[in-house]
Amino acid sequence: MSQTQTVLSVRGAQRRYVKKGQAALASADLDLHAGRITALLGPSGSGKSTLLRAIAGLERLDGGEIRLGDTVWSGHGAHIPPETRRVGMVFQDYALFPHLDALSNVAFGLKGKDAKDIAQAQLEAAELGHKAKAFPHELSGGEQQRVALARALAPSPAVVLLDEPFSGLDRRLRHELRDRTVQTLKAAGATAMIVTHDAEEAMAVADELALMDAGRVIQTGTPDEVWMRPVSAVAARLLGDVEIIESTVETGRADTPFGAVDAHGFDEGETVHALIRPQAFGLSLAEDGTFTITRRRSAGTHLVFEFAPAEGGDTHWHAHTASPSPLHEGDRVSVSLDPAYLSVVRR
Ligand code: ADP
Repeated sequence: MSQTQTVLSVRGAQRRYVKKGQAALASADLDLHAGRITALLGPSGSGKSTLLRAIAGLERLDGGEIRLGDTVWSGHGAHIPPETRRVGMVFQDYALFPHLDALSNVAFGLKGKDAKDIAQAQLEAAELGHKAKAFPHELSGGEQQRVALARALAPSPAVVLLDEPFSGLDRRLRHELRDRTVQTLKAAGATAMIVTHDAEEAMAVADELALMDAGRVIQTGTPDEVWMRPVSAVAARLLGDVEIIESTVETGRADTPFGAVDAHGFDEGETVHALIRPQAFGLSLAEDGTFTITRRRSAGTHLVFEFAPAEGGDTHWHAHTASPSPLHEGDRVSVSLDPAYLSVVRR
C-alpha cells in the first residue's frame, strides 16, 4: 500500500452550541491524507457541517485540537482565523459573488499581478475559459459549481472542503458533476473532504470514507472496507440495507435463523449482532425449505425478495439477488449465507 501522509488531523474535537444540550461534536477524530478525497458521511444532525466549519475556522472548538502538520489551527487556547488557514471551500449554494464575473470570482482570493492569469488557467482547467466574462446568473447550476471549485482551488489550498456540493442539482447532472469534481481534485493533487448524507455518493467519490454519528467519527476506511466490515449496526445502516440479528455466542459461533455464523474473538455468552447485507442471502427452491417468499420486486439492477419463516409470524428479511430468478411469491425456499457479506460485532 502506498504511504499516506497525514495533512490535517482532528483529535477529540468538541463543540456544544447550547449549554447542557447535546454536543454537536463529541470528541471527533479525523485524519485527511495527502492527495486523497475523504467523504464524511452521516445522517442529518450528526455534526458533519460543524466539523467542516471547525476545520475551516468558522467555529471554535470547546475541546480537542485541529492541526495542519505541526501547526495548531484550533485548540490549546489557539484559534487561527479562517482567512489565514489555507482552506478552500465549496459551499452547498456555491456562494459566488453575484456582481462579479466568473474570472473575478475565481481571482477573488488571489493576490499579486498574475492573479487573473492564475484564475484564467483555473477556469480553463474547468473547461470554462470561454465563460470568464459571464456572471453567476448567466451560468447553469453545474457551471456555477465548477466556478466555485475553481475558486476554491486557485490559491493552492492545503485542504479543500466541500459541503454537500451536489445536492442542488438533478440526478443526471449530479453524477456527471461528481465525476468531474473528483477528476479536478485529483488533477490538482488536492487533499479534500466532501461532506454528504448520501451513502451512494460518498462511496462514489471517496478514497477514504469517514462515518459520522452523534458527533463522533465512528469508522474510517476505504468504501469497500467500511461496507464489508462495519464496526457496528449504526455504521452498517449508514451505508445501506442490512439485517441485524441479535445472538449469543456459543462455542465461538453465533446462531441465526439461517444457521450459526463464525464469532471467534468474542466471549462465550456475549451478546452480538450479526450484520447481514441483503446480498449475503442465497435462496434456493426447496419443498422442505423453512422459509417462504412473501414478496418479489425488481430494483432494476437486482431483485429484492422478502422472505419469512414458513411457519408464519411477523418477522421477515430482505434478500438481493441477480436478475433473472426462477423464484416467485409463495415459493418455499432454503436460505444460505455468504460469509463475505456478513460480519459479527459487539452489540
Ligand atoms: P449535519 O451537518 O451532520 O447535519 P450539524 O453539524 O449541522 O450536523 O449539526 C449538529 C448538531 O448541532 C445538530 O443537533 C444541530 O441542530 C446543532 N447545531 C448546528 N448548528 C447550530 C447552531 N448554530 N446553533 C445551535 N445548534 C446548532
